[in-house]
Amino acid sequence: MPTLTQNIPILDLSPEIDELWQDLNDAMQGVLRSGHFIMGPNVKALEQELAEYLGTRHAIGVNSGTDALVIGLRAMGIGAGDEVITTPFTFFATAESISMVGAEPVFVDIDPETYNLDPALIEARITPRTKAIMPVHLYGHPAEMDAIMALAERHNLKVLEDVAQAFGAEYRGKKVGTIGDLGAWSFFPSKNLGAYGDGGLITTDDDKLAELARMLRVHGSKRKYYNEVIGYNSRLDEMQAAILRVKLPRIDASNDGRRRVAHRYNELLADMPGVVAPVSRADVNHVFHQYTIRVLDGKRDAVHKQLGDAGIGTMIYYPVPVDKLPVYSGSSASLPVSDQATEEVLSLPIWPQMDDETQDRIVDQLRRSVA
Ligand SMILES: *Cc1c(COP(=O)(O)O)cnc(C)c1O
Repeated sequence: MPTLTQNIPILDLSPEIDELWQDLNDAMQGVLRSGHFIMGPNVKALEQELAEYLGTRHAIGVNSGTDALVIGLRAMGIGAGDEVITTPFTFFATAESISMVGAEPVFVDIDPETYNLDPALIEARITPRTKAIMPVHLYGHPAEMDAIMALAERHNLKVLEDVAQAFGAEYRGKKVGTIGDLGAWSFFPSKNLGAYGDGGLITTDDDKLAELARMLRVHGSKRKYYNEVIGYNSRLDEMQAAILRVKLPRIDASNDGRRRVAHRYNELLADMPGVVAPVSRADVNHVFHQYTIRVLDGKRDAVHKQLGDAGIGTMIYYPVPVDKLPVYSGSSASLPVSDQATEEVLSLPIWPQMDDETQDRIVDQLRRSVA
């Protein structure tokens, strides 16, 4: 437990590791003794457990969230000459995956409250080349899936959900990642369901997409050495799968812990001038992968620095809109809501077991820095 003099990181994984220490050790030693390290019994069992938890027909382990996006796009047949509509306010990998398959990301501005794609702005950017919409459930808050699915249906587009930050989040009672044609998940250690190394997952109810994704993750072959298409070496390894099998049964409690901390932050920040707390829409179950505030009046960078000087880790997710990064610059129309968000957002420390004393220290310092 951090004392008054210790630094507070943005994310502390040690309470979870302490809590699960024995089970994690047993799981890892089990893998060592089994001699199966790739595509063994743990991956198979985890895929079944994940499919059941999420309520999807197919769950396919891959090497990373980025690979899940790339393989997902390839399985959908998206490539050169195609356009994919996505958000500029996300981690680079969202757009990068579209470019990696040879297609072009088309950036549409976001909702200022949820930071997710603004569905009202999508239709104007659909062209004859548009093949898919790729919403991101940023910070763990579900995107507006009903509006996105309605647009996709009207224009015959696929929907690939980037669920890297939203494991267990729900939109109108349904787990995000299972609403579109395909979900792409990341088990990067800092994600709200994280492994202790790289890992990712593809989910779909579509048998054909699942078959293609399974092929693509192992060099484009259904049968070893009878390769049919150019694929990838992108398998989830047994060690990570065994660790995730220890963590999956605790994910609801873990997400509840994040929500408890987030709600307490909301109460503590309610009367703080110059700070806007995050919203959680009534029809969603937010998992608070991040607890992200806005710091108004051009003070964000100074507040970020002052908190850092006081030993409190905060992060700016993300300081540059993806469409303004040099590799994409000049590619998009004006996206003022996203631009402004990159200047105001600040993610505060959050983890499921955070105690009140730690949180009070963060909020006290924030109050001082904003004043
Ligand atoms: C982390 C992340 C990814 C990439 O996942 P990796 O497992 O790191 O490859 C993609 N999209 C979003 C929104 C992410 O946060």
